[in-house]
Amino acid sequence: MGGLYMKAVVYQGNGVVKVQEVEKPTIIKADDAIVRVTTAAICGSDLHIIHGVLPVDPGTVIGHEFVGIVEEVGSAVTTVKPGDRVLSMAGINCGKCPTCRSRKVWACPNGGIFGNGPMFGNLQGVQAEFARVQYADEVLTKIPDQLEDEQVIFVGDILATGYLGITGVKPDDRGLIKPGGSVAIYGSGPVGLCTLAAAQIYGAAKIIMVDPLEYRLEMAGKMGADVLINPDKVDPVKAILEATNGLGAELAVEASGSDEALYNCIHSVCAAGTVNILGIVNKPIQLDFSKLIAKNITIEAGICNVIHTQELLDLISAARIDMMPIITHTMPLADAEKAYDIFDKRTDGVVKIILKP
Ligand SMILES: [Zn+2]
Ligand SMILES: [Zn+2]
Repeated sequence: MGGLYMKAVVYQGNGVVKVQEVEKPTIIKADDAIVRVTTAAICGSDLHIIHGVLPVDPGTVIGHEFVGIVEEVGSAVTTVKPGDRVLSMAGINCGKCPTCRSRKVWACPNGGIFGNGPMFGNLQGVQAEFARVQYADEVLTKIPDQLEDEQVIFVGDILATGYLGITGVKPDDRGLIKPGGSVAIYGSGPVGLCTLAAAQIYGAAKIIMVDPLEYRLEMAGKMGADVLINPDKVDPVKAILEATNGLGAELAVEASGSDEALYNCIHSVCAAGTVNILGIVNKPIQLDFSKLIAKNITIEAGICNVIHTQELLDLISAARIDMMPIITHTMPLADAEKAYDIFDKRTDGVVKIILKP
């Protein structure tokens, strides 16, 4: 490239995405970097845009998961330089405000998520040939030479999210289970599978996956899940109680976005256990606290806080985490419309789609 225009996935409104030529981004502030995207991914939350749940203005480039090569940096950028291979967080944060300093980077008042519309800073997305990254020193991390794009691309979003499912949502939390513990994960999609990997790191002895799609359960099984439950075939609460000697799981993670799964989490967690909600349940739900209170459970919920990047890169480098198996499709960026269709309809055995600009 190098011209003034680039190819990008542009939201058209009404659930439609198109690959179009748009203006190539340029450095605007001294702490910006322009990154040539080498690998981008489609995320479940991109589907919230398509379904109208997350408002994004027509004409916006979407996408927030990517890695690439630094093309150009502003005068204030010190940690990366042109030519560096970098991993990006799914969003930006300033790194300097009190919120960032207390490691609550998702909540930075100067921050936002790439391609996620006015609720999240109205930033342009990264399913494109180039991306402008503000606060580049905070947001970009050099990728160790020996690691491929596909090994690290999930660190800035879904793997950080799955990790949060097990560590706990607060910045200083260090694990909702102890070695030997049991975890039930509702949803065997990309985030659920990342949560499975995190549960293994934290020493879970029994990992139970719940998903109505058999091929996704099968993938969880290959990745080392111990119990696979299809809620269309058996009552998941009963099955989880059976798998845990009638006690319930110590930790139940909601990674599917379904209200029913959330209820089931509450009913299948053990006394004094924890329910951690990562999936976005898009409607208000009613909870019967008379039943909850006797269980002494903790309910927490959270979106991705990208603070474990170095730890995750170390685990990936040491082959303790390998999320490559969840990549079922690698497609050219030019085929993004088809890719979104496959991902949205869950056809062709899809779990995660990588786009190559
Ligand atoms: Zn995402
Ligand atoms: Zn900040």
